[in-house]
Amino acid sequence: MSKGRQLYELQEVDLEIEAKREAFSLVTSRLGESEALAEARISLAKDEEHLAELQRNQRLGEWEVDDLQAKAALLEEKLYGGSVKIPKELASLQEQVENLKRKRRAQEDKLLDIMAEVEMMQKGLTIKKGELARCEENWRNEQASLSREQAELSAALATLEQKRRGLISRTDAASLELYETLRVRRQGRAVAKVEQGMCQGCRIALPMSEVQRARMDQELVQCSSCERILYVS
Ligand SMILES: [Zn+2]
Repeated sequence: MSKGRQLYELQEVDLEIEAKREAFSLVTSRLGESEALAEARISLAKDEEHLAELQRNQRLGEWEVDDLQAKAALLEEKLYGGSVKIPKELASLQEQVENLKRKRRAQEDKLLDIMAEVEMMQKGLTIKKGELARCEENWRNEQASLSREQAELSAALATLEQKRRGLISRTDAASLELYETLRVRRQGRAVAKVEQGMCQGCRIALPMSEVQRARMDQELVQCSSCERILYVS
């Protein structure tokens, strides 16, 4: 294989390696825990905690209503039982019963508010849980596909690197050194094709003699304008 063609092939492999490495690090950066999912889980846990607290309050409220009812019943029994006969005491008992009943009604209103809030919270939680489950499913699928992509890129890189080693082993040290130097200086493109007498690296028309020397390919010929190694295909 001619020197120019060999270096051109090496460049093709190097450009592909570079692109695959970039893709590999992009894929790798997207693998792992999702911040949005972690936040959604925390928010759900907070809502569940809030619901549990509301349900505790509901139970306490119910207990309070039962208690007030029992106390009122006990006093009513005394009031209508006939054991108390003094009018002043009866009036006081009556007042206490009314008081307890008022308290109970107020407590029942509070309890209804709590129950409405519990119901709303439960509905909201069901929706949130469904959304989170869907997001987790999407995330798992995405992670699986990213893992596959990562493995494919890794395998492709191994093949390319092997190909590179093969190409390098057939290239002389001086050509390789020139290639590496120009590769750094020309953003990865050390070799330029010659098409219709023009260097495809800098788009400048080359002197005929330069094109001819490049075509003969007995030595490496560099573009007089951009320094790239010329390759006539
Ligand atoms: Zn050029």
